[in-house]
Amino acid sequence: MDYKQHIEIVENYPKEGIQFKDITPLMNNGEAYRAAVNDIVEYAKDKEVDIVVGPEARGFIIGCPVSYALGIGFAPVRKEGKLPREVIKVDYGLEYGTNVLTIHKDAIKPGQRVLITDDLLATGGTIEATIKLVEELGGIVAGCAFLIELSYLDGMDKLKDYDVLTLMKY
Ligand code: AMP
Repeated sequence: MDYKQHIEIVENYPKEGIQFKDITPLMNNGEAYRAAVNDIVEYAKDKEVDIVVGPEARGFIIGCPVSYALGIGFAPVRKEGKLPREVIKVDYGLEYGTNVLTIHKDAIKPGQRVLITDDLLATGGTIEATIKLVEELGGIVAGCAFLIELSYLDGMDKLKDYDVLTLMKY
């Protein structure tokens, strides 16, 4: 499937100079959304994944249907102050701004194999922070899956040691 026809590019959003890739038209199209989720499910099938982890909020949009299809759990990574119980946290930089991400301390058991999902790989800061959280809890990153990779930002450099799937490249 040509997924790019379902991505709207918005110039100068949310800041001057940023070319925002809007995935909502893809989500809006049942066939495209299902095909994208199925591609990630196929990628994950032979990886013996125990749990899917995704950063808020667009990591949930991809990760939750994937975990449902695989019949395994999903653990949310969220901004500071959003998770109600004991968390571990990590600071990281974004293509635009900085952030703190957290995960519940009991979300992953040591030795569990984890698939990490997000909508888009830009600088790789978000995925790097998510990997840190997963590994600090003793999880093994079995793979990382994205709809979109912005190859002009070199986020992939941060993922040299990991198995990665991206469905579209810009
Ligand atoms: P990064 O940490 O730089 O890899 O940024 C990844 C996160 O920021 C993803 O979860 C995206 O949702 C969002 N993001 C960064 N850059 C863009 C962009 N150009 N268009 C759409 N979303 C973006």
